[in-house]
Amino acid sequence: KQNFLPFSGQRFAVVGLGRAGLPSARRLVEWGAEVLCWDDGAAARAAAAEAGLKVGDPALVPGFPFDALLLSPGIPHILPRVHPAAAAARAASVPVLCDSELLFRAVRAWPSRARFVGITGTNGKSTTTALVHHLLKRAGRAVEVGGNLGPAALGLRLLGDDGVYVLEMSSYMLERLATLRFDVGVVLNLSPDHLDRHGDMDGYAAAKLHVFDRQEAGDLAVIGMDDASGARFAAGRAGTVVPISGHTPQQGGVWAEGRILRDGTGIIADLDTARALPGSHNAQNAAAAAAVALHLGLTRAEIAAGIADFPGLPHRQEAVGSIDGIAFVNDSKATNADSTERALASYDRVVLIAGGVPKEGGLAPLAKLFPRIAHAVLIGQAAPDFAATLAAHGVAHEVAGTLQAAIPAALAAARGTGTRVVLLSPACASFDQFSGFDARGDAFRAQVTSMMETV
Ligand code: ADP
Repeated sequence: KQNFLPFSGQRFAVVGLGRAGLPSARRLVEWGAEVLCWDDGAAARAAAAEAGLKVGDPALVPGFPFDALLLSPGIPHILPRVHPAAAAARAASVPVLCDSELLFRAVRAWPSRARFVGITGTNGKSTTTALVHHLLKRAGRAVEVGGNLGPAALGLRLLGDDGVYVLEMSSYMLERLATLRFDVGVVLNLSPDHLDRHGDMDGYAAAKLHVFDRQEAGDLAVIGMDDASGARFAAGRAGTVVPISGHTPQQGGVWAEGRILRDGTGIIADLDTARALPGSHNAQNAAAAAAVALHLGLTRAEIAAGIADFPGLPHRQEAVGSIDGIAFVNDSKATNADSTERALASYDRVVLIAGGVPKEGGLAPLAKLFPRIAHAVLIGQAAPDFAATLAAHGVAHEVAGTLQAAIPAALAAARGTGTRVVLLSPACASFDQFSGFDARGDAFRAQVTSMMETV
């Protein structure tokens, strides 16, 4: 449609011009808005100016005369670290929004009744989001995927009434919605990650629960029951609750019994036919995806076939190659102990590469899986603390410092101990040495690949 100008006459401040911010700002301009862009980094500001966008610090514009502040999900708008632009927005009672909210407004203005699926949780968001997208797509549905995973929501195509948007929602994004109503909301699980940002577990849980805001009868609330918060989350939902589990039968829900995914009606899929869904954590993700797909009208056969040929995502227990029969597994996405626990539980014995920017609790929560670690190679800021924890439990380890040094050290340790798997599963953020978990995983894959060529 030409002259589709849903934001005509509206003014937005866009702060944070990264992967999502810059394309979002351009889209808003294209759709008729007046946009002022800002980033604390000079290089990002220069890129925006080069793209023809108006650049300036909105916090310095008297009265903050904007309809909304579109704030990058990574930039805090709540205490204790409020970005000045967010503080200025608040002082002027201007809403702080995320790009999914603006996508929703544009889709409704199109006009389209396309449905929205919002997927959140501490772990498994990307896998479940990608799996839902895969299931819908191979069943021939008009579907777009984005949010925290992949493309910025505002960069997605506009879909008609039959379309489905599958959006991975971080808690940061969920706190920045105003009118978006998810026809299907999913909360997979909740564990103490990101507490630095949300202050406490209650605040973190409250942020996740925003995925069910504004739901009505007929909408779906898919809720993971495998940790303590599930039952509490299920209470008081306006939509239909579908409880899901990776291991325990759920009345009215979807669950895995061993590797058989099922609901009250019968078998949905055999997870052992899946190429890329190992472990009971992925059984939980598959149960959630199946619950969503059933609600959106897919047949059980379509779901089974899609689960079987889902290719998986990079950096999540991704097999990148092997040397002398020793498999190298890239689980760089494991930025907390919980994720590393899932990976460790998937193998009998590993040489573990871990470390980076430590999170609260360190490696200690993994103690019951320490017997599976033949040897640990430690990197980054967390190395001294991790070394102390492992030493206290008598686990063999060394400090390599960098990932580059850790990979040959891990190979040597695997040879020396007769271990068949080298697992990069850092239990840490990567920002001390990398731009993100994906850069860390890419570096691991590249180095292993080049070693495979030279060995
Ligand atoms: P997210 O997008 O929420 O960070 P991903 O799907 O990218 O989650 O998975 C990241 C890591 O989290 C995986 O490598 C795995 O170790 C772990 N994980 C995946 N799904 C689950 C789950 N349902 N429960 C617990 N851990 C999980």
